[in-house]
Parts: sequence; structure tokens; C-alpha cells
Amino acid sequence: MLKIDGKKAAADLKADLKKKVAELKSTYNAVPGLTVILVGEDTPSQIYVKNKEKSANEVGIKSEVIRYPEKVEEKVVLDKIKELNDNNEVSGILVQLPLPKHIDKRKVIEAINPSKDVDGFHPMNVGNLSSGYESNIPCTPLGCYLLIKNIEKNLNGKHAVIIGRSNLNGKPMAQLLLKENCTVTITHSKTKDLKAECAKADIIIAAVGRPKLVKADWVKKDAIIIDVGINKTDSGLVGDVDFDGVSKVAKAITPVPGGVGPMTIACLLNNTVECFKKAQSS
Ligand code: NAP
Repeated sequence: MLKIDGKKAAADLKADLKKKVAELKSTYNAVPGLTVILVGEDTPSQIYVKNKEKSANEVGIKSEVIRYPEKVEEKVVLDKIKELNDNNEVSGILVQLPLPKHIDKRKVIEAINPSKDVDGFHPMNVGNLSSGYESNIPCTPLGCYLLIKNIEKNLNGKHAVIIGRSNLNGKPMAQLLLKENCTVTITHSKTKDLKAECAKADIIIAAVGRPKLVKADWVKKDAIIIDVGINKTDSGLVGDVDFDGVSKVAKAITPVPGGVGPMTIACLLNNTVECFKKAQSS
């Protein structure tokens, strides 16, 4: 069994991006810029944003965090996004979710210029991805995709079962794997027999938010298991997959922590660099 090292894969991707940023700097005398908007005091969001800022700086991306108090008016956030859309030094804009209830998440996402939407949440990017066109791809599914491709170059005809149908994870993951000619099953909380669905899978991607949901006897021998879940339990952080049991059956599996998480941030940096490159050539 291969324990997939997400930290190493992310470090490799970041090293590659660092080189690319240096090359872009010497070509254009400018570096990619990432601006993150953070509203409120949500502790996990504060930590995520701090990590994003630190990682961006490590590869030479110019990063900026704009912080607003919880009660900020929606219009203030929308006006700031307009300003950032028009700022040539900003290649990527990310609004950290969740937002307070009085701010319309959809309006905020749709206010971001799709070419600066590094999260890939704008309907234009979602539509392009599902049409098989070039688009900004949501960071977590992109990270999962790269981890899978590191193990298996040719995914033609593989049966992938995705647990979870969120816009953030499950749906874009399905599009990425369809593009690779996988046969994709998307499952969710109303799926009748999840165990039976998983038992058919060559690849399982669990993005649910239920600790250790996927058990060893759900998994086909030699399947690839990607665990997106992050669940706080009394015994620490665990994924959606029962790692100890499933790792005895699977061909390869991501641990939690140290699997998908580090790739998510590296893919955000990747998307920022790609947005910069596209802006230079347009
Ligand atoms: P979400 O929006 O809450 O979606 C969860 C999905 O799981 C839904 O589609 C839900 O079905 C499905 N589901 C819930 N219970 C189920 C069950 N018992 N059987 C089958 N499906 C079930 O969650 P998300 O934002 O996609 O996040 C999922 C997990 O990934 C969370 O633990 C989150 O913390 C983690 N995450 C990790 C990263 C990372 O970088 N590693 C990034 C983002 C999220 P319905 O649609 O029917 O409700």
C-alpha cells in the first residue's frame, strides 16, 4: 500500500511554481498577485488565510489580505471586488468562505472577474469546466486530481466513485475525472447503498465530512482512495475514510492530515500563476 504523501507533492508543486514566478518576473518585471478578502473572525478561516499568505510569499507571489469586520456591509465587499478586478497588479481574488449570513455569497462570487477567480467558483468557470473548456479549476479537486495522476497516468475506463456532491468538491471532481475518460458515479446522502457503490470503484474520492465513513469492507482490492474530509474528533483530526482499515486493502491512500490539504493551497498558488500568465498573453 502506498501512503500518498500530499506534503511532498505540494512541496514539489510549490518548488516548480517558485521557479516559474522567478522566470515571469524576469520576463515581465512583475509577479503574480493574490488578494484574499476575509470577513469576520471565524478561527478556521483565519488559519487558512494565514497559511495561504505564507505559502504565496514562499513562492514569490505578492499576497495581500483585506480584512473586514463581521458586520461589514455587502456593498463594501462588492465595491472592493470591483476595484480589485480593475487592478492590474492583482492576478487572483479569493473571498474566504463562509461569509456572514447578511452577505450574499452568490453575488460576491459573481462579482469577481472570472479571469481572476482563483477558486474557480464563478459560474463562467463552472460552465467552462463542465463543457470541457479551459477554466480555473477549484483548488481541492484539482489537488486530488494531481495526486491521482501522480499514481496512475492513464485513467481511461476507470470507475471513480465520488462521495459528496458539493460545488466545492464533488461536482468539479466529477468533471475532471470525466475528462480523463473515467466512468463516474456521484453519491450523496440520499444514495441507497453507498457501500455497494464504493465496492465497484477503482478510485474513491470521499468529500463528505463524516469521520471514518468509508470502511475496509467497502473498498475493492487495489483501489485508489482520496480522502478530502477533515473532521475534528476527540482523538484528533480524521478523514472520511477509516485509514487503518482501508489502508490494508487499498493500493494507495491519502492520510489526514498530510494528504489533500497541502495540495489545496499549492493549487491555489498554481491557479494564481496561471491567471497571471493568461493576463499577460491577453
Ligand atoms: P458539504 O458541502 O457539506 O457536502 C458534503 C456532501 O456529502 C454532500 O453532498 C452530502 O450529501 C454528502 N453526504 C453527507 N452525508 C453523507 C452520507 N452519510 N453518505 C453519503 N454522502 C453524504 O461538504 P464539502 O464542503 O464538500 O466538504 C466535505 C469535507 O471535505 C469536509 O470534511 C470539509 O472539511 C473537507 N474539505 C477539505 C478540504 C481540504 O483541503 N482537504 C477542502 C474543502 C473541504 P447531500 O448533498 O445529499 O447533502
